[in-house]
Amino acid sequence: MDALQYDVSLKPYNTLAIDVKAKYFVSAQSLIQIQQALAFAQAQGIPFFLLGGGSNLVLTQDIPYLVLHIATKGIQVLSEDQQHVTLEVQAGENWHAFVQWSLAQGWSGLENLSLIPGTVGAAPVQNIGAYGVEVKDYLDSLTALDTQTGEVLDFSNAKCQFSYRESYFKQHLGRYLILSVRFRLNKQAKLHLEYGPIRQQLAEEGIAEPTPQQVAAVVCTIRQSKLPNPAELANTGSFFKNPLVSTAQVQRLKQAYPDLISYNLSNEQAKLAAGWLIEKAGWKGYRQGDAGVHAKQALVLVNYGNASGKDILQLAQKIQQTIRDKFQVSLEIEPNRL
Ligand SMILES: Cc1cc2nc3c(=O)[nH]c(=O)nc-3n(C[C@H](O)[C@H](O)[C@H](O)COP(=O)(O)OP(=O)(O)OC[C@H]3O[C@@H](n4cnc5c(N)ncnc54)[C@H](O)[C@@H]3O)c2cc1C
Repeated sequence: MDALQYDVSLKPYNTLAIDVKAKYFVSAQSLIQIQQALAFAQAQGIPFFLLGGGSNLVLTQDIPYLVLHIATKGIQVLSEDQQHVTLEVQAGENWHAFVQWSLAQGWSGLENLSLIPGTVGAAPVQNIGAYGVEVKDYLDSLTALDTQTGEVLDFSNAKCQFSYRESYFKQHLGRYLILSVRFRLNKQAKLHLEYGPIRQQLAEEGIAEPTPQQVAAVVCTIRQSKLPNPAELANTGSFFKNPLVSTAQVQRLKQAYPDLISYNLSNEQAKLAAGWLIEKAGWKGYRQGDAGVHAKQALVLVNYGNASGKDILQLAQKIQQTIRDKFQVSLEIEPNRL
């Protein structure tokens, strides 16, 4: 097949800039190329790995099989009325570019999710979220290829089984290849301004009644001030999920740490800020070789140059151990490891 490449370095294909090689590599721009690549893997009797923008990955070794990079493009309006528009977006579209484009059309909903790296097809995999919005809130349905049976299946929002950084697809990683995602966006804006930093930044800029595009711009400003740009300092965003704990445990921890950051999710369950725990344990700005904890945001692990995936994971394990010892809290790694 034409698109097949051999021994391709994945360094430019992952935001943590880990230099491992894929024995076989296909960047697929159409459904036919996707199907040909999967048929090749089947004929060779080798596994395959689905790659989007590589912004939620830790690669730990050369991949002796097929990496299938999803690069399909296209956006189509399926239907619209006075209130809503429904769009179908191909999996390989860049997420942030799509969000910006939708806002420029006057369609809102995704503004809080501006500047999240990666592709549209990977967004449902971990139900991306930021500033009080998750992709599930505006996702109508999606189409996925069952890589075991070759069937093309539709998944309603409910069938995707979304929860915090989770979905049916993350539970069955590699089985379902998301081909396209349908979004239902608003024509009349319903803004989500409940997150303090957004309100604060709007106030600083003297904006009392923001448009969705202004909210998007503010989100970009906040993110740029907090998170390193992977093009300048390689990273994979938040390295750990914010841990869910009982409210009873929060009360116990608050006695020892009155400044503990927590958000109550119900009477019984609360979410802790993983970044706060890591910072409190003294890791912020730590560096070991080329693997480090970002100096401005302790939740982000960075590669200063030539760290391997194993170096990054070793650092992550040390952090997990200290958090367990100090707070009796388990931190779960967010990115996918390969
Ligand atoms: C600086 C930075 C900031 C970030 N901020 C956030 C944030 O605020 N909120 C948030 O939720 N995440 C955030 N992330 C994580 C990341 O951007 C998201 O998880 C994103 O959706 C990953 O997309 P990707 O295309 O890069 O996926 P990849 O890293 O390429 O893949 C991720 C997983 O999805 C699978 N996959 C990829 N494409 C498909 C497909 N078409 N079908 C099925 N499976 C597929 C892969 O096999 C892999 O298991 C951040 C990352 C960085 C680097």
